[in-house]
Amino acid sequence: MKAINIEALTRDNVRRLTPYSSARDEFTGAEGVFLDANENPFPSKVNRYPDPQQRELKSKFADLRGVRKDQLIIGNGSDEILDLVFRAFCEPGKDFVVTIKPSYGMYKVLANMNDVKLSEVALDHNFDLDVDAILAASEGAKMIILCSPNNPTGNLLNKDSIKEILEKFNGLVLVDEAYIDFADKASMLDELTNYQNLMVSQTFSKAFGMAGIRVGVGIAHEEIINILNRIKPPYNVNGISQEMALNRLGRIEEVASEITQLKLERSRLINFLEHQDAVIRVYPTDANFVLFKVSDANKYYDRLVEKGVIVRNRTSAFGCENCLRLSVGTKEENNRFMEVFDTINI
Ligand SMILES: *Cc1c(COP(=O)(O)O)cnc(C)c1O
Repeated sequence: MKAINIEALTRDNVRRLTPYSSARDEFTGAEGVFLDANENPFPSKVNRYPDPQQRELKSKFADLRGVRKDQLIIGNGSDEILDLVFRAFCEPGKDFVVTIKPSYGMYKVLANMNDVKLSEVALDHNFDLDVDAILAASEGAKMIILCSPNNPTGNLLNKDSIKEILEKFNGLVLVDEAYIDFADKASMLDELTNYQNLMVSQTFSKAFGMAGIRVGVGIAHEEIINILNRIKPPYNVNGISQEMALNRLGRIEEVASEITQLKLERSRLINFLEHQDAVIRVYPTDANFVLFKVSDANKYYDRLVEKGVIVRNRTSAFGCENCLRLSVGTKEENNRFMEVFDTINI
């Protein structure tokens, strides 16, 4: 395994922290008279604090992904995981982080919130990694954030390129895999045993169909997880969300069947778009959305909205001029999109 000095990457004040110890951390048994957390004793579904370590959820998710539960941190969405990583490793006003463009807008928001400079390195003409440019921009950086499959372009990034970056860069490499379950190739989780500087983030918001419960997962070497646990708010994932996520993991064949349906619908949408004269280019996708280029994205966007079909206008994103991003909906929703798109005359 490629090893890195994780303590040395950690912010000074975080290195000195010990995690807050809550009542539910200090006694973890299930039986007894619980008079330790100042809770209201009258029983209801939610009168007790939730498990601050989300043990059951970690155990089920670890089994699903073939990792160990001490390699996991659960967050209030993967956005919280990313925020924890910024806060644990980046000194505000001093450190900087590198990412790709175009990519997910939250990286910039999180960097700004944490007063960390973000350098955005352009993807190549296939929306894939320019390894040399990324490595050149990363000298002295704390972290590189890569999104694969990338949002808004939809494509998986080249795995060998990601491995070369992991090999040559001595900071953290965070690979955001929010859409990995829609891809036909393997997750970067397979590389966890080879690179101590790899962190992967995944989410219940997309393939698992649970954007409303706000559950995200960070997966990395346990030393990285231990650092993040020092700054994690104690009850960051509420009890109802933990329970709903667990139920969903217990019915994983339903998730798999939805993914299969969405991939079929994705093919149908791609086929439709490729046969439209108005569509200049359909970009390859490994996600549950399709990016496509038209002559005038603003006009198409407005016409679609007039007919009650809302897509995402990405025309202002780097390299995405006149591009619209279309999420894969149900069969009926996609039919409606196609029907409306067909009638637009610009
Ligand atoms: C949707 C999305 C997420 C999910 O964020 P959550 O906070 O887990 O809902 C993460 N990364 C990317 C690139 C996304 O598009």
